[in-house]
Amino acid sequence: MPGVPLRPSPIRSPLRRAWQLSAWRLAAIVLGCLLLGFALGQPWPLLALGLAAILAWHYLQLRTVLGRLNRRERLEPPEGRGVFAELTRVLHDRQRENRERKRRLLGTLRAFRQAAAALPDAVVVLDRREQRIDWFNEASERLLGLSYPTDIGSRFCNLVRSPRVTAWMESGAGEPLLDVQGTGEESLRLSMRLIDYTTEQQLLIARDISKLLHLEQVRRDFVANVSHELRTPLTVLHGYLDMLEPEDVPEWAGMLGEMRRQSGRMTQIVEDLLTLSRLESRDSLPLETVEMASMLASLQGEAEALSAGRHCIEVVDSAGVDLFGSHKELHSAFSNLVINAVRYTPAGGAIRVEFSLADQGGAHLCVVDTGPGIAPQHIPRLTERFYRVSTSRSRDSGGTGLGLAIVKHILQLHQAQLRIESEPGRGSRFCCEFDSAHCRIRSADAVDAAS
Ligand code: ADP
Repeated sequence: MPGVPLRPSPIRSPLRRAWQLSAWRLAAIVLGCLLLGFALGQPWPLLALGLAAILAWHYLQLRTVLGRLNRRERLEPPEGRGVFAELTRVLHDRQRENRERKRRLLGTLRAFRQAAAALPDAVVVLDRREQRIDWFNEASERLLGLSYPTDIGSRFCNLVRSPRVTAWMESGAGEPLLDVQGTGEESLRLSMRLIDYTTEQQLLIARDISKLLHLEQVRRDFVANVSHELRTPLTVLHGYLDMLEPEDVPEWAGMLGEMRRQSGRMTQIVEDLLTLSRLESRDSLPLETVEMASMLASLQGEAEALSAGRHCIEVVDSAGVDLFGSHKELHSAFSNLVINAVRYTPAGGAIRVEFSLADQGGAHLCVVDTGPGIAPQHIPRLTERFYRVSTSRSRDSGGTGLGLAIVKHILQLHQAQLRIESEPGRGSRFCCEFDSAHCRIRSADAVDAAS
């Protein structure tokens, strides 16, 4: 019926029943003692005796329960009734629930450990302070040569014994470390990653990348071999085409011109591919002081020759330092940027080469033009091989699509960055950013020669 409040059901809780039973028992004992006391003519001493007996019984019960809890004994379900039986029942239920929860947690933990142990990658749990090993999975034994239980508690760097790994971990291991020699087979190559997963612990993951590196090597060798094999036939073809004079067969003049252009383009592609393969196969370059005054003068000369007066070309040198790197490769990278600027900037545009000190240390060489600019979606992909914003424009300008890939590789070998800023219709800015380790104070002779 609407409007009539529901009455609580009259079921009594076991706790309430136990309290009531105990109260009745107490009342019965008090009454019994008084009746017996009156019958014997000593009611108060008998009441005191009865109450003392009740107190002693409660004390004993309390002692038993506390003793069992203290000994972490497993409590049995109680048999009697009353408050102490109820207390034992509540404690027994809590114990059972806790055991159940612990079993579930242990099961989950075991499942996680089993999953981590079954991973094909090496997983090592390290303490963050000293990087000592807390736990590792089976794959760590195979890939990193760890052995259980002797290596638990040892410092990871002492066991792996690789100066590269030690330096990487000491520097904070921000980026993954590639191509680390694993234990066992000579060809085993690993990539390592360090993840901070609690405030106390770190997770080190080492993955076998030998197959990946092998495939990469096969790809590099293939490109290098194909380019190398194409070089000779192209030289022969080019030679014969050069021998044919268009004046001898005037009706073939157009065709001959196109054939020469295309074979020249192919030769350039092959040369660029070989340059890329050569750069990719190296980890470092022989370094020397690169005099920037003469480098900038040579870049200006190249730009002016290619532009043939169609652009306004300016070179600004405010850095006052020289670079420390490979002269040949740096010249190739900078001239690629300058040639691109001349090629893509329409006649009447301006090209500026700036060599300046960076605010945060190091030096920047920037090539700035007022050309067509590049839409933002193309910028991150410009250094990919054969990536072109406009295929036709690049072909018309004689480009191979490999120039910026070469620039990126050369800069990587100098631990430098290529930063590209551009706005369609307003021009582009290609900056090579060098750190202070690759800069040298310019010598007085070089300053005199430049002035
Ligand atoms: P390409 O040999 O085709 O010039 P690059 O790798 O040197 O190859 O350049 C990749 C693409 O970047 C070019 O096809 C061109 O579209 C674009 N690009 C490079 N430099 C400039 C520039 N200064 N202005 C406008 N676009 C440029």
